[in-house]
This record gives sequence, structure tokens and C-alpha cells, in this order.
Amino acid sequence: MNTLGLIVPCYNEQEVLELFYNETSKIISGLSEVFSCELIFVDDGSSDNTLSIIKNLALKDPAVKYISFSRNFGKEAAMLAGMSYAVKFDYIGIMDADLQHSPSLIPEMLSYVYSGEYDVAAARREDRAGEDKLKSKLSESFYKVINRVSEISLNESAQDFRIMSKKVVEAVLSLPENIRFSKGIFSWVGFNVKWIAHENRERAAGQTKWSIRKLFKYAFDGILGFTNSPLRLGFFCGAFFAVISLFALIYGIVRNSISPEYISSLPYILAAMFFIGAVMLVFMGVLGEYIGRIYTESKNRPKFVISETNTRQNIL
Ligand code: UDP
Ligand code: MG
Repeated sequence: MNTLGLIVPCYNEQEVLELFYNETSKIISGLSEVFSCELIFVDDGSSDNTLSIIKNLALKDPAVKYISFSRNFGKEAAMLAGMSYAVKFDYIGIMDADLQHSPSLIPEMLSYVYSGEYDVAAARREDRAGEDKLKSKLSESFYKVINRVSEISLNESAQDFRIMSKKVVEAVLSLPENIRFSKGIFSWVGFNVKWIAHENRERAAGQTKWSIRKLFKYAFDGILGFTNSPLRLGFFCGAFFAVISLFALIYGIVRNSISPEYISSLPYILAAMFFIGAVMLVFMGVLGEYIGRIYTESKNRPKFVISETNTRQNIL
């Protein structure tokens, strides 16, 4: 029998969990001749009834496992905890709890990986229907920037809905960083990916957990985690302004010698001073961001803390 572990990060999903479970377990039981499946709910420090709902499901269904965090560590940490446990399975899937990722796509995704032709089957959204306009625009520019400046290439429409073979998950787990940006990590590890178009669905119930602020932080983590080019930018800006100041100097000398009644250069000097000061501060800020990250990584804290689980296995 092949084994499949489906990881479901949950943060305050009480409204949708039962619905999710009903829909997903129907699909899973359809696969039961070939696959023995476990549903692994990772409760990311929910403050509502998420955990007790999951525990009730686990009482009725031995295929339901849960890992509950001591507080909210974020979806990245939840996916990591899920994968650390689920790496023992032959195939590992990740999907959202809100039914935006249609469980009915699982058999098709699984078939690509099971056939051995692909190592990963991942869903990609067909359109951005029903999504916030501002968010879509911001996210579009984020992907343009990151694909241009970093070593990895990200598929703009990729979703965190995927099924992977064990070796992919092993590779993902071998990356030790604390500040994790999974989209980047999945792209960095490579492997053969089958992209499957998937209609954008509305959340079945409850509310999105992403604010614009969280999305900005996510974008920064992605860019700073996968490229050093912002550091290099300082060098190019420095060179550019050196050339400008050379021109300014030549202009000053020429003008002074042609028209000695030259009035005052103070405004120019002040403008130049402030400008150079601002540029220096910006790049000190960039350095600060990277140094902060080095500090965070060097503390090497655990990426999450588990308060309860029925998986009874040491994970990270
Ligand atoms: N999630 C999580 N921890 C968080 C935020 C979200 O585990 O801090 C889970 C959430 O429960 C859901 C998935 O990540 O299963 C996607 O979140 P959401 O639907 O809010 O994001 P969106 O679909 O709006 O991008
Ligand atoms: Mg969602």
C-alpha cells in the first residue's frame, strides 16, 4: 500500500473545518484501494475552537492527526511542522483549510506524481477573479521584482497546493533557514513540476488571515532570502553619484572661469549633501535588513513550539 499524508495548516478556521473534512475525506476514501491516507492538521495557535474541532475529528477518524502550536507561528512554520512529520509517507500534499484548494483535484495531482513522470504536482490559479485589486497589483509587481533580481524563478500564479514525492520533501527539509519563504524554497530545490490549472475559488467560510502588512513582510522575506542584489545596488548608486558629482565639479570650474560674478553655490552643496546622506541611509537600511537576518538565523531558534499532538513522534 502506498502512503499519502495531506498537510492542512489551520489558523482560526472553525467555520470551515467540518466542511473541509467532509469534502476531503470523501475524496480520500475514493483513493483507499491504492493509498492509505492521513490528514495532518497543523493548528497554528488558533484562538477559536479550531483545535477542539480537529480533536473531535481525530476521535472519530484514526486517519486524522493533529499538531498544535503553542502560539501563532505563521503558515510557513505550520507547513514545516507538517512536512517534518509527513516525510515518512511516500507522497506528501499541502492544502489550505478554507476549500480554496479543491480536494477534487487531489486524484489528478496524485496520478502525475504516482506515475513517476513528475516529482511534484502543483496547482496554479487560472485567474485572480474575486481577489482584492490592490493585492493583485502588489503581488504582480512583487513577482516581477523577485524574478528579475533573484536566482530563483517563481510562478506568479502558483498556489500553496501541491503533492510531492518523499524526496522533494526531504530536500525541502534539508534547508535549515529560520526565515522561511516556501515558494522560494520549493522553486530552489527544483525537480520536475507538473502545473495544473485550477479555478480561483472563494473561501468557503471564515476570513483571510493575510493583511497588507503581512503580505509586505512576506514579500521582503522572499526577496531578501533569495538574493543579495540589494546589497550590490549600493555600489551602483555610489558609482552613479560619483559620476554626477564629477560633472558638477567640472561645471562649477568652467562656469567660474567664464563668469567670475558667479553668485552662490551653497544651495547646490546643500542639496547634494542631503541627497548623498539620504542614499547612504537607504543603503545602511538595506545592510541593517541583512544583518538582522544574520542575527535571527544565528540564534537558530526552533521554528515552532508544539503544545499538543497525536502524532507521537519527535519532530524537529
Ligand atoms: N494559516 C496559518 N497560519 C497563519 C495564517 C494562515 O496556518 O498565520 C492557514 C489558514 O488557516 C489557511 C491557509 O493558511 O488554511 C491560507 O490562509 P488564508 O486562506 O487566510 O490565505 P489566503 O487564501 O487569503 O491567501
Ligand atoms: Mg484562503
